[in-house]
Amino acid sequence: MTYDRSNIFARILRGELPCNRVYENDHAVAFHDINPLAPIHILVIPKGEYVSMDDFSREASPEKIAGLFRAVGEVARQVGLSADGYRFLANTGAHANQEVPHFHVHIFGGAQLGGMLKKIQTG
Ligand code: AMP
Repeated sequence: MTYDRSNIFARILRGELPCNRVYENDHAVAFHDINPLAPIHILVIPKGEYVSMDDFSREASPEKIAGLFRAVGEVARQVGLSADGYRFLANTGAHANQEVPHFHVHIFGGAQLGGMLKKIQTG
């Protein structure tokens, strides 16, 4: 899948659209989700053109991968989620309903989040 430079997160990275930024390092930017699904819902995105986790894990440098995951942990600590815990996930592709085609990690917290996933029928 080729990277679409007009996607919303690419435009945020270029400064064409605003975001409520909470953290930035050399490799990643974090900002509040515009439609939060938990009391705290933050997105962490890499600086670079990666469509999804599949693309990122294949193409990104070790420094970029480390920078992204360090950012996830740093953001969680910064907003006070470490003590009580949190969840992070990355929707990847059609079966996961990934809406924005720029790799992003969701961080959810600030409340008891319940079960991991509603059980899907297996057959
Ligand atoms: P996904 O379904 O994993 O691709 O999630 C995309 C997420 O991006 C959703 O949770 C949206 O609410 C969020 N989102 C879309 N546009 C913006 C925006 N301009 N600023 C912040 N979050 C956004």
